[in-house]
Order: sequence, then structure tokens, then C-alpha cells
Amino acid sequence: MVSLHDTATGTIRPLALRDPGKVAMYVCGPTVYDLPHLGHGRFTLVFDVLRRYLLFTGLGVTYVSNITDIDDNIIAKAQREGRSEEEVAHEFEERWWEAMDALGVLRPTAIPHATEFVDAMVEMISELLEKDLAYRTSDGVYLDTAKVNGYGLLAGQPLESLRAGARVEGNDEKHTPLDFALWKNAKPGEPTWPAPFGEGRPGWHTECVVMSLALLGEGFDLHGGGLDLKFPHHENERAQAVALGKDFAHHWAHNGWVMVGGEKMSKSLNNFTSLTDLLDQADPRAYRLLVLRSHYRAPIEVTPDTIDDAQRGLARLDSLARRFPQALPTMPPVVHELDGDADAIAGFRTLMDDDLQTPQALALIFDLISAANTALDEGRGEDAQQAASTALGLAGAMGLEAKSEESDIDEGALVLARQRDEARANKDFATSDALRDQLQALGWTVEDTPSGTELRR
Ligand SMILES: [Zn+2]
Repeated sequence: MVSLHDTATGTIRPLALRDPGKVAMYVCGPTVYDLPHLGHGRFTLVFDVLRRYLLFTGLGVTYVSNITDIDDNIIAKAQREGRSEEEVAHEFEERWWEAMDALGVLRPTAIPHATEFVDAMVEMISELLEKDLAYRTSDGVYLDTAKVNGYGLLAGQPLESLRAGARVEGNDEKHTPLDFALWKNAKPGEPTWPAPFGEGRPGWHTECVVMSLALLGEGFDLHGGGLDLKFPHHENERAQAVALGKDFAHHWAHNGWVMVGGEKMSKSLNNFTSLTDLLDQADPRAYRLLVLRSHYRAPIEVTPDTIDDAQRGLARLDSLARRFPQALPTMPPVVHELDGDADAIAGFRTLMDDDLQTPQALALIFDLISAANTALDEGRGEDAQQAASTALGLAGAMGLEAKSEESDIDEGALVLARQRDEARANKDFATSDALRDQLQALGWTVEDTPSGTELRR
């Protein structure tokens, strides 16, 4: 069984399963008001690699990841642009899935949208109020964090230092600065939902606790997300469950920062290049390879240089696939079906089971690539074949798909296809139609797919 670092205990420990053979996991998804950024790409890749590895070992995985489709940022953007909140959320959710499909991130088993679960959130908040664990102010309902046992567990800091660091707002009616909004009272012009404690909308931290418990049940196995969510988001999700005596996530996993030019990237720092930009400029598999090259809890540096370097790694993998096309696995590979070097497969599993040592696992795969090429050059066909199918199968286990065919689409056609995707994103359909005609005149069949324009001869 895989062992993972658990933020709650600060130790690496086996992922204990509530139901044998089945993993129930929840990973916080995006708030859809802008293009996905590089940090989004990293956390989705990290948890996709974990999910795929669990599947590879033969486990079943229920993977729930939400879409936050109502929040301050969505409202602000809608008001700035004179559009509805639904329109904004819908547009950026589409862009999100385009990016996820391009990255090869498997779609979640369930994708709860916050606006679909407001009734359940109202119910939870009512219960917290009834039990005197929450209180009302002039602008909403707040959780009384002083009444929650072990508040600060995920933050890994004593309550006193958390309190000292908390932002104190002017004219604050909160009992302590750590208390957070479960519900925000309606303001003019904002979308609202009815509730016995007054019209309004749910706070972000209430969404995930309600949706994860609704879809996975109490005592689910793993809750994950980027390090930026550890505190306060995950702490506050957990606090609501603990306050009500509910058994919440049994294991907490967090992945490290994405650095851009030496600076930490997060939602609150406005310094990101979008993930969409990166995917336009590079082979999307390069970001997965780059993510795998670092341990998931370490920071990674995403620059044109590190992406180029990852593309060189992909070239080695693809050239192996071209030399050994019959060694390509059926995706997704499963360990008991993988016909390969048993020692190498066991070594790979030992590394991955130890808190996902992906840099070493990747090194093992690239050693197998060298071994396969050498064996073929030396005329040892059977050894070569075995090393190649092991390398390609294990790469596939981490979602890294090798390609045995060179793309025959020329750069000029690709540029037109990209311009067409941009025109479509801007709803400039006249330009997008003109570009389609131009591509067809060049002999291409033009197809619209969730990841954009695709070309075939
Ligand atoms: Zn969440």
C-alpha cells in the first residue's frame, strides 16, 4: 500500500482505506473566474499521478473535485464586465476542462458545483447555529473557532501564534480574528439563496466540507490540494466537521509551490503566466514530466528552460516508442497485466509507495530506456523488448503517454489552428470560420474538440 505524507500528523504513513480495495479522495478544484494558472496545473497533475498510480496497483478510486461557481471574484468580474455570474463561471469552467484535457488529467468521478449544494450548506450552517458553534453578525454567519477542538492542527501552529498572525479587520464583530464566514448576507445586485438565517450565499470553506461529505461520506480516505489551501481553507473545512462531531478526511496531502522566476505563486499574488499559455507553447506532456521530476512536496520552477528540458526528456521517450511501437501499453496500464521486467516493476512500486518518489521512479524509467536501446544495438532483441515495454508501461502508470508517430502537421497549419482557437475563445466566429476555410483549402479536415481545433488529413 502507498504511504503518503499526512499534513495532520506531519508523518509519512500508509494510506488506510475505509473500504478495502477502494480509495475515496477529494481534491479542491478551481474557482472559475479566470484562466487556469500554473499552480492549478501542478496540483491537478500531482493528484492525477497519485490517482493513476493507485489505479495501476489495482485499486478502485472515487475522485471527487469541485467547481466553485459562486464567489467574490466571480461576482466582481461579472459586475465589471456587465455579464451574469453564470456566464463568467461557465466560460472559465470550459477553459478549465480544455486545459485539463490537454494535460491528460483524468476527469473526476464526480464534479460537484457549489451552487448545486446550497441547500445542504444551509442545513449544516443551521445545525452549527443551533448548537451554538456559530453566531450571526450584521454581514453573515461565522464559525466560533474557539469552540472547535484542535483548531490549528493542519496549520501546525499553536492557536496563539495563529491568532497573533490573523488579520484584524476594522469594526470587526467577530469573536476572534480566526473566525470565518460560513454565510455571507445578501448585498444588492449579488446572487442569493434563501436561508432561515437570512438571504445570502455560502462561504468558500463551507462548500467543500458539505460536498465532500455528501459525495464520499464520513471518514473518507484522503483530502488533497495545493499547499496554499492547507490553512485556512482546509483547516476551516475540517473545523466545521469536527465541531459537528463528524468523521472527516483521514489523511491530508498537500503539494508544493510553483515558483516563477524565484517567486512563490499563488492566487493572492498576481504574478502568474496562465497554464493555457504554457499549453499553447509546449507539448502538454512536458508539464507532467516537469512535475514528475520533483518530489510533489518540493517547490518547482516553471520557466521556458525547465519546460524545454522536459521536452528533451519526452523526445527520448517518444524515440523509444518509435523503435519499439509494439511495446506501447494499452492505457491506462495495470500492474498485473504489465508484461515486463519484474525487478524493475517492483523497484518502481517501492519508490512510488514511499510517498511518491517520482524523481527516482522517473530515473528508473530512463535507465530502462537506455538499457532497451543498448540491448537492441547489441542484437539482444528479447532483452530490448522487455526493457522497452517496462519503461513505456511504467511511464504510462504515471500518465506519461509515449507517442510512436511523429506529428505530420506542419507549423503553418498549427499556427492557423491556434489562431482559430483564440478567435473562438473571443467569440469572434467570423474570424474562426475564415480560418477554418483557410485550413480546409490547405487540405485539412478541421474538427472541434474539447481541447480545441484538431487537424487531420
Ligand atoms: Zn476546497
